[in-house]
Amino acid sequence: MSDRLVLLGSKGGPALRPGGPWPSSSLLEIGGRAIVVDCGLGVTRGLVDAGIGLKALDLIFITHLHSDHVLELGPLIHTAWTAGLVTPVNVFGPPGTGHYWRRFCQAMEFDIEIRIVDEGRPDIRDLVSIDEFGEGQVVEQRGLKVMALRVDHPPVTDCFALRFEHGGKSVVFSADTAFFPPLADFAEGADILVHEAMLEQGIERLVARTGNGARLKEHLLASHSFAEEAGRIASDAGVKRLVLNHLIPADDPEIGEVDWQAAVRKTWAGDLTIARDGLVVELSGWKAAQGEGTA
Ligand SMILES: [Zn+2]
Ligand SMILES: [Zn+2]
Repeated sequence: MSDRLVLLGSKGGPALRPGGPWPSSSLLEIGGRAIVVDCGLGVTRGLVDAGIGLKALDLIFITHLHSDHVLELGPLIHTAWTAGLVTPVNVFGPPGTGHYWRRFCQAMEFDIEIRIVDEGRPDIRDLVSIDEFGEGQVVEQRGLKVMALRVDHPPVTDCFALRFEHGGKSVVFSADTAFFPPLADFAEGADILVHEAMLEQGIERLVARTGNGARLKEHLLASHSFAEEAGRIASDAGVKRLVLNHLIPADDPEIGEVDWQAAVRKTWAGDLTIARDGLVVELSGWKAAQGEGTA
């Protein structure tokens, strides 16, 4: 298995629109591990489409508890269980992740109990362990090291950027954040920085379409980054490749890849990928497998 990043869902926010991309989830394959980062709606389908057998589900990280990052966590694990999962799954998430998981199992109690008795499955509640983390080192096992940095995503206080390191390679996810200069130190020298991004000219139209105008705009400006700001972090960190992800807006027909590139090129001159659902970024060789997304 070659090391790679697959952007399963590339839009910011939980709403779906016809023909549009899906909310946040990514697959990071590094050092023989298949790691899921965030579980927005569509993560299960995305993993299957990326060729991942759900029985092999192993490590899941959640950056924060906004629904576009966690809504499908329970359904993913439950579906893996019905696909034959018998090995432990370790979920790392912010405080509150354990509460979500216990309540999910309660909501699905009828189905869980009946499959254990009727189909002889192991108890899903015994297969899953939840580790709630804060800032600092999250885990170090089998050569994989994961660090967390609290970022600026009001009113959510437990929102964490994540840095994955294995065998001299490193991939950093910004999570959802307003422009946050300490991220540059945290991402220093990373092979890939996956940073969220907004495009100024798209915000007005997005707000008009969604219908709760001023409040939504206020939230976006206070808690997310413009593409230019993501480029600034990438430049200050000296990363090898910047991936713009969690795009806002993601499904505006008047906004295309050239618009994202024009914005981010003001602050970032290095290798660049604009995320699309299913896009693969190879970790060894620095080539995106599907050319169009790269510039
Ligand atoms: Zn989000
Ligand atoms: Zn969020």
